[in-house]
Parts: sequence; C-alpha cells; structure tokens
Amino acid sequence: MILSKEPNAIIVMGPPGAGKGTQAQLLAERFDLYHLETSEIIEKNLKNIKKDDFVTVDGKKYFLWEEKRMRESGELMSPPLITFWIKEKIKVLYKEGKGITTSGSPRTLYEGKEIIPLFKKLYGEENIKIILIELSVEESIWRNSHRRTCELMRHPILYSKETANLTKCPFDGSKLLSRKDDTPETIKIRLKEYQERTLPLLELFKKQGLEMKKIDGSPSPVDVFEDILKSL
Ligand SMILES: [Zn+2]
Repeated sequence: MILSKEPNAIIVMGPPGAGKGTQAQLLAERFDLYHLETSEIIEKNLKNIKKDDFVTVDGKKYFLWEEKRMRESGELMSPPLITFWIKEKIKVLYKEGKGITTSGSPRTLYEGKEIIPLFKKLYGEENIKIILIELSVEESIWRNSHRRTCELMRHPILYSKETANLTKCPFDGSKLLSRKDDTPETIKIRLKEYQERTLPLLELFKKQGLEMKKIDGSPSPVDVFEDILKSL
C-alpha cells in the first residue's frame, strides 16, 4: 500500500482493546488526517438528551434514550442511526479537504455498505486503506478491563507498569477515568458483537476489491504503529 498525496481514508479495524483509537490517532498526527472517532460522535449526539428525543432516518424514528441504553449494555446501537451521523461527518470533512482515519467505523455490514461507497465516491478507491489489528480474545478481555481514558481529550491510556499509577493524563494533565460501562459482562457482549457483526465486513471489503493489511496487535503501541507504517 502506498499513501498518495490526495486525501486518504484509512480505516482501522480490530476487536475491542486492539488499540484502534491509539493507532488512528498516531496515523492522524503523522499524515495530517482527521481522526473520526465513532464513540466521540455518539457521545456528542447523546449528550443532554431528553426522554422523547428522536432522530428520523429514512422515515424511521430512532429514540435516543433507547439507543443510549443499548450502548451502555454493550450492544451495538442501531446501524442506520450511527451510519447517518457518520456519513454527515464524512461529507463535512471531505468538503474541508481533509483526509480521514476512522477507528470503530464501519462496525456493521449495514454501515460498511453505506460508508465504503461514500468513501469511494469522495476519496477514490485507490485512496482507501484498511488496517486490521488482530488480538486474541483473552488479550482483548484483559485490556478492556484495564483501560482508562482522559477526561479532556479522551486519550486512551493503556495499562502497563509505567501507567498503572498514573492519575493524570501525561499529555494534558486532565483526570483519567475508567469507563463505567467496562464491566466483564459488557466486555463479553462487545466481543460477541465484534465477532458476529463486525467481522463479516472483511468479506465485504474483499468483494469491493479493497486491500487489507493485517497487523499483530499484541506488541506495544509504538511497535504496532511501526508495523502499520511499514504496511502502508
Ligand atoms: Zn489527555
């Protein structure tokens, strides 16, 4: 894979805890891309919602309170709603002339079938890169039960000897928070959702003729990033 001078769209895939967010962030900084983070878009849209708030997509109403409940239980939210929000964001970014790197999108076959054609149309097939970070189930569970993010910028802080005693974000000094929805139960649900609803996307990418690079996600983030750079 070669990164062209035109704006690129780099899709970073992987199970929960694979470090998608960290790698996408590093790619964003290195290649001046916008890091499109699905969780950030969702949180923004679910903030301060009222009981009866809804969004209409293709004539169907999606109640935000119910979507929030699904998310907190580890289930995936309704794909048409997420897809709608993400497509809107992609169009805005493209208009601004920005390249994009995503972590966590597309997450379902539905979303992939909507978003890949949009990426192709805007960015061109040759400028779409897909990176799959692979991680074992055991490692995924372990990492998810130990992860924290900072309050201000949502920097993910991976658990290690060096970070175990940190209370503040090393980048901006804001508080480090565990995610309250990271319980063993929700982590298991999330993994199951990944296997059953996200992995089928790989078949779609193949059918669409998109090249995908598989990267071992078990080394430290720096080493994983080096491997990604080599693969580009
Ligand atoms: Zn931070």
